[in-house]
Amino acid sequence: MSSNVSTTAGTVSSPRKTPRIVVLGGGSVGLYSARRIRKRLGKKDAAIVVVDPRPYMTYAPFLPEVAAGSIDGRNVVAPLRSALKGVDVLQGKVTAIKHGEHKVEITPEIGDAYEISYDELVVSLGSVSRTLPIPGLAEQAIGFKNVEEAVSVRNHVVHQLDLASSCWDADERRRMLTFTFIGGGFAGIEALAEVEDMARAALSQYESIDQADLRFVMIEGAGRILPELSEPMAEYALEQLKERGIEFHLSTFLSSCVDGHVVTSTGVEFDSNTIVWTAGVKANPVIGESDLPTDKMGRLTVNANLQVVDEDGVVVPAAWGAGDCAAVPDLLNPGAFCPPNAQHAIRQATQLGDNLVASVEDRPLVQYKHKSVGVVASLGLYKGVAELFGVFKFKGFPAWAVHRTYHGYAMPTWNRKIRIFMGWFDQFVMRRKTVSLGSIHDPRAAFRNASLPPKPKDDAAPKSDKDAVGAGK
Ligand SMILES: Cc1cc2nc3c(=O)[nH]c(=O)nc-3n(C[C@H](O)[C@H](O)[C@H](O)COP(=O)(O)OP(=O)(O)OC[C@H]3O[C@@H](n4cnc5c(N)ncnc54)[C@H](O)[C@@H]3O)c2cc1C
Repeated sequence: MSSNVSTTAGTVSSPRKTPRIVVLGGGSVGLYSARRIRKRLGKKDAAIVVVDPRPYMTYAPFLPEVAAGSIDGRNVVAPLRSALKGVDVLQGKVTAIKHGEHKVEITPEIGDAYEISYDELVVSLGSVSRTLPIPGLAEQAIGFKNVEEAVSVRNHVVHQLDLASSCWDADERRRMLTFTFIGGGFAGIEALAEVEDMARAALSQYESIDQADLRFVMIEGAGRILPELSEPMAEYALEQLKERGIEFHLSTFLSSCVDGHVVTSTGVEFDSNTIVWTAGVKANPVIGESDLPTDKMGRLTVNANLQVVDEDGVVVPAAWGAGDCAAVPDLLNPGAFCPPNAQHAIRQATQLGDNLVASVEDRPLVQYKHKSVGVVASLGLYKGVAELFGVFKFKGFPAWAVHRTYHGYAMPTWNRKIRIFMGWFDQFVMRRKTVSLGSIHDPRAAFRNASLPPKPKDDAAPKSDKDAVGAGK
């Protein structure tokens, strides 16, 4: 078996002796499949490489709680190097997949792109935000897909409260206190509900801001929210959120948000300093640009064994895929595909690992089949909605408790589970912290200012009586 690592400067490694399994993406599927394969195959049987631009896996179901400050951002990520013993982690972006040549191109943050070859490929590149060419969106909005965004939303929202508390321009203040979320699926509703709950709780520290000054707006294109829940439960969640004063614009699209001036398809207009885009995801575009087969939505086509297949269902040798980036047939709902969620992704990853090893060892493969456990959503501290096994329905505190228990248990690594539970206990006893680190996005600003040469005294003083009168206006 031949192998190499090449850069624009030429080939730099020697031929390898053991087969190499390359896992693209170290998220839910990447982490769990690499772990499973490592558990089943010894180091002499296979070298495993995971490629991801981030050195950690993010447990996304907890991002809304990160935005609310209920969980420390560092505790919802599992560092790949410590979670994946015996696996090589390459930090870089996969920028091309050439399955015909069994090679992938990796672009590190610094330095030239290089290629690595492989014997088996696992594609677990997840999804990216599905955006639209709406005027102002790219400049004004923030996504809600990763931990950096969730931390940033939290800091930004609390910073707006800080600014508004000392601002006496009514229009400017209204703009600071208007928070807009686009997209009423799970991620959007949980993010909105958690952030609103946190902001309202924080107001006890701001004497100059009334509860009525806060405006939270949800814009959703469909006629309902939370399509993953049954209609009565979604209706319950909607009513709860409306009672909290959250404004809903259903069957409405965002038309424009240039300079934070929001205009909707129904003609509603207002200014908002905060626009969070949670209107869905699409498969990672790197897959669509590769020579691997994809469906109309750009998802990798796979069979229930999690092997990549072409449009006729013929297996593409040595290629595997699962999670948000793949169209995995849902055998319990013939004709449908598994929804893109962590519940499926983690289970598919384990099955994929087992099947990859079985194929290497010439054993029969097992099809992926999973009956959904249900849906749990947090709607703020002590509030939630949950539907389990299509039978058990929980509202309010019990649903919130089910949500925390389920996801706390599902969080990878005991280290992180324990930290999260300890953090919750800490908050229960000490109350939640709502301080913003406003300057975190420009930490060098203070140092830059301190390094400026002092202003000449003459510049600071008014030059004449006329200037002094002008300055006082
Ligand atoms: C805010 C939010 C809330 C959610 N809540 C829930 C929930 O409550 N319940 C639930 O079941 N699911 C939930 N999900 C969905 C769930 O997180 C995903 O379905 C799941 O993480 C998919 O796993 P994955 O491995 O396919 O993708 P991911 O876990 O997203 O992993 C993809 C990995 O690929 C990496 N990557 C991306 N591009 C490249 C590249 N070019 N090269 C190399 N690596 C790359 C990324 O850094 C990432 O590590 C939520 C998602 C979000 C965003």
